[in-house]
Amino acid sequence: MKLVYEICKVCDFYKENEEQLECGAYKILKILVRDGKIGLEDIRVAVYEISSLPNSER
Ligand code: SF4
Repeated sequence: MKLVYEICKVCDFYKENEEQLECGAYKILKILVRDGKIGLEDIRVAVYEISSLPNSER
């Protein structure tokens, strides 16, 4: 699923090929995207920001 790839790739709990459980934050983001409150580009910007942080600040 595209949204899992976009959101979960910066999550420490994400492991490919494991059971696809959805956390509360994922469920909230899924609804915000569904309702057009935020778009995938907003998520990509946040992911980029998270990826740029040192591990101690993530
Ligand atoms: S659903 Fe939540 S806990 Fe699970 S991998 Fe995605 S962001 Fe992480």
